[in-house]
Amino acid sequence: MNKLNAIKPRARVAAMPEYHPPLGSRDAMRLDFNENTLRCSPKVAEAIGALTAESLTRYPERGPVEALAAEYLGLKPEQVVLTNGVDEAIHVLCQAFLEAGDELLLPVPTYTMYEIYAAQTDAVLVQVQAGEDFAFPYERMLASITERTKLICIANPNSPTGAVTTREQILALCAAAPGAIVLADEAYFHFFGETVVDLVGEVPNLVVARTFSKAYGLAGLRLGLLAASDENLRWVRRVLSPYSVNSVALTALTAALGDQEYVDGYVAEVKRARMEFQLDLTGLSVRFWPTQANFVLVEIGADHREFVAHMREAGILVRDRSADPGCEGLVRITIGSREQMRRADKAMETYLAARRKKTGEKA
Ligand code: PMP
Repeated sequence: MNKLNAIKPRARVAAMPEYHPPLGSRDAMRLDFNENTLRCSPKVAEAIGALTAESLTRYPERGPVEALAAEYLGLKPEQVVLTNGVDEAIHVLCQAFLEAGDELLLPVPTYTMYEIYAAQTDAVLVQVQAGEDFAFPYERMLASITERTKLICIANPNSPTGAVTTREQILALCAAAPGAIVLADEAYFHFFGETVVDLVGEVPNLVVARTFSKAYGLAGLRLGLLAASDENLRWVRRVLSPYSVNSVALTALTAALGDQEYVDGYVAEVKRARMEFQLDLTGLSVRFWPTQANFVLVEIGADHREFVAHMREAGILVRDRSADPGCEGLVRITIGSREQMRRADKAMETYLAARRKKTGEKA
């Protein structure tokens, strides 16, 4: 490398590893990112197709669409901010609130990006390991709150486990940490059905995140939102780029919010597939953790890499979670349609049969 170009970054940045999501494949069935595995609403595709060349010359205006999203959530326009995916929402929360020495409290395993964005700040990471059942470690989370706790992130349902946190537990954490932002990340809300978004404004330190990457099928457009009291959101607005949500995404969101029927249909299909696939896993004698999301964590064991490679060979991408705390030998599989999950079940069956043959293990 040319030494002259090697300008030293901030120490925190120098200490960070680069984060690379695994490479996908166009032709494979993608059960590795918890995306919508089919398509977005045709109304969204239509609205994007109708965009004129002239309209793209203008900088986007997110205010009116923010108001629409707020109305859809039953909130006031000033209680919602649109972001470039929930990832950006997490980033701006960390930028707005985490000071040197502040603590970010996380149950683990959980969504990776909380830790990554916090690592760019001078905050201290406090992790609470879930038990073997991966239930939300509520008592220990509560006991880990200190005067320095500034941000608590709860993915609900959690990834990669599919486990949930109750409304009462979230409320109790908000009350126990009045000096902290409590983020309820409801990225997978639609597949669960329970929310705390109605408490926004009532509970001063509660912040709720929603994404349009999952049930709505718009991961490629990068659309998320934060719902919180106006008092807390005004700090977020200071650090958020005014144009981070582009006009194609804003057009898509307007159409998506107008087609609830599409989302309801997709979610109903995933829920049916989730029930069937969990029965399939039981049939295959594969241990799994009951899930309220559009994915399921399964136990494969020491041969997790071979399993993921076999599935890839069969044209199905699944996500090895072995590197997550407490997840050695575990693989996360996105739930798509029933037809897709039948294919996944068949590919797993083939793998497990070959493994039994090799090891002499009983069915
Ligand atoms: N939160 C959780 C818990 C997630 O699993 C994901 C998606 N991987 C996100 C947030 C990020 O969503 P987005 O695509 O809106 O950035």
